Amino acid sequence: MPPLPSADPLLAALLGACVGSFLNVVAWRLPREESVVHPGSHCPRCGTALCWFENVPVLSWLLLRGRCRHCGTQIAARYPLVELLTAGLWVAATLAQPSGLGPEPAPLLQALAGWLLLSWLIPLTLIDLDRLWLPEGLCRIGLLLGLATTTAIGLSQGIELARTLLLHHLLAATVGLLGFEAMSAGAEKLIGRPALGLGDAKLAALLGAWLGLTGLGLTVVLAVFSGAVVGLAGRLSGRLGRHEPFPFGPFLAAGGAAVWLVGNQPWLVLLGQLLGTGA
Ligand SMILES: [Zn+2]
Repeated sequence: MPPLPSADPLLAALLGACVGSFLNVVAWRLPREESVVHPGSHCPRCGTALCWFENVPVLSWLLLRGRCRHCGTQIAARYPLVELLTAGLWVAATLAQPSGLGPEPAPLLQALAGWLLLSWLIPLTLIDLDRLWLPEGLCRIGLLLGLATTTAIGLSQGIELARTLLLHHLLAATVGLLGFEAMSAGAEKLIGRPALGLGDAKLAALLGAWLGLTGLGLTVVLAVFSGAVVGLAGRLSGRLGRHEPFPFGPFLAAGGAAVWLVGNQPWLVLLGQLLGTGA
């Protein structure tokens, strides 16, 4: 059998940086209800359209020293950082070992699936950071894409596997949605104010569709742990007020990405060791 084609990491980095540039646009325009394709990129202050050399991911920002060439407005370092992050995640996705895609997923399909999921999580993370809001449309389409992708990858290995994966991931999405809604209602009763946004339930459903039940469980553990550490650090350093809400979506997204990239097994082993069972 000839070796299955896989994705080239250098190509992944270049494509990822370009996609990252587009994801910056999505995260800026979607909450403002602007089209993500028209008009082309322009300076948010003076409105001048950017020409090609002002639009090269990362490099343009460095060459222009983070300023608009026309009006001198500072351009946030977040833009090149998101482009770099996307490039890095795209490379990582070509080397990833995600679980829940059957015994022998084709490497190229697996890389494509990773690119789609990780790219989907980036604007969700940015918008939640900016506005404490996870757009429902993005979550819903991301969930459907997760079911479609895992089913397609299953189908490439046999109809029976496709059916099993679809059922399993559909169940995980449902558990994610209902579990978070129940948790949110319970927490609200307990502390007398909303503790989790409803968007978090939708994002958990999306992640369930991509990662399956075990992957979703691990994601939630990672998100709760990292969220607690960051929340405590913010509280102790005085950067986060006592009742000030902070977004949980970025922690879920980061947890989901971490589970996708290395698969369930290393996290299960780590968790087992932490719990002292030495699994
Ligand atoms: Zn300008």
